[in-house]
Amino acid sequence: MHQFQYKGNALYCGCLRIEKIVRRYGTPLYIYSYETILEHFLKLKNAFKEISPLICYSVKANSNLSILNILIRQGAGLDIVSGGELYRAKLAGCPSKRIVYASVGKTDEEIKEALTRGILMFNAESMPELKRINYICNRLKKKATVALRINPDVEPETHSYITTGKKETKFGMDIDTVRGVFLQASSYKNLDICGIHMHIGSQITKAAPFIKAIKKANQLIEELKKKGVDIRYLNIGGGLGIVYDKERPQSASEFAHRIVPLLRDTGLRIILEPGRFIVGNAGILVTKVLYVKDTSHKRFVVVDAAMNDLLRPALYDAYHEIIPLNRSHKVRMSENHKLVDVVGPVCESGDFLGKGRKLAVREGDYLAILGAGAYGFSMSSNYNSRRRAAEVLVKGNKVYLIRERETYRDLVRKERKTGDWR
Ligand code: PLP
Repeated sequence: MHQFQYKGNALYCGCLRIEKIVRRYGTPLYIYSYETILEHFLKLKNAFKEISPLICYSVKANSNLSILNILIRQGAGLDIVSGGELYRAKLAGCPSKRIVYASVGKTDEEIKEALTRGILMFNAESMPELKRINYICNRLKKKATVALRINPDVEPETHSYITTGKKETKFGMDIDTVRGVFLQASSYKNLDICGIHMHIGSQITKAAPFIKAIKKANQLIEELKKKGVDIRYLNIGGGLGIVYDKERPQSASEFAHRIVPLLRDTGLRIILEPGRFIVGNAGILVTKVLYVKDTSHKRFVVVDAAMNDLLRPALYDAYHEIIPLNRSHKVRMSENHKLVDVVGPVCESGDFLGKGRKLAVREGDYLAILGAGAYGFSMSSNYNSRRRAAEVLVKGNKVYLIRERETYRDLVRKERKTGDWR
């Protein structure tokens, strides 16, 4: 469920007509709903209340400071993967002891920053990384809390690019390696290795892969406990799927109903790292139709948003529902029954937002691309020297500009026209 619904023929975000917002802020425009973000976070929190996990929202899904701040105020922690995300976490006001840090490639500088900030824990992904964190701790005279990311080798039944818990992927360590590290933990003098982390993939619509992975982790924890190893945290990652098209993902409560029984008696502090589930359907990207271009082969609806604004269709062939801001345009379908490709102005054939869509639009019409709240703006770029879109957040009857549209000056701000190359 989300707040983007038609009232009559006009698309609304809560009580505000979206076309009105768009006329004020221009296009392409990301619009987020405060109420939907909150609702999704609380759904998850309530579903898991029996075990009161620390919910560390995954910053990469949508890293806007206002969105982080909304969630932090609700008691969320943050899952980060870079020094940049750490910087955002602090700016957004996240207490350090609610920050967990994954990534297969943490640099020395990033490790130092995280240690200095006193984050809750590192989710370490390899033995060399453990050695590096240990070494840096030694130099800084600090101790780091560490969870080991296991790669449980389970099939999450999602797109291969967002599968992260199979053995052929770069993520985490296999269970034998993790077991070995725990048994040798005392050799890492500056590390308190006390947790297990996993994240098996994203846009996972069933509980079964999670159950498989958690059972593997539980088995390992049991085995290690018997050997006197003290494990205090289990982080089961994120990955909960949402509806983009015809998916039927489990609800938060269905998911919790299957998962909680595996966790409630472990005595472990449980951490979740949802991203998409919280923000995915809480955001749309609104774009304007520039041209309707007919070729002998098909009709292209050329819009002012492109792959640089929303990469998912180009990157994963991902489906996003595309609907008009004014539904009365649907009647035009009788004028022409052609299926259309909705494409952007970028010079790549992969620059499409939707293919084979039943849309009857004219120049100047506005379209809403749904489910754009996660991995939308955060994956956007300046490719083709396109300015990144503005972002607004709707709360009640108020609209807040939470990121200004970039200017041409922004595009070249870091560049220098210096040197001698005559
Ligand atoms: N945790 C980790 C380590 C991740 O890599 C990701 C996404 O890639 C997430 C959490 C969030 O995943 P999702 O947005 O599918 O919940």
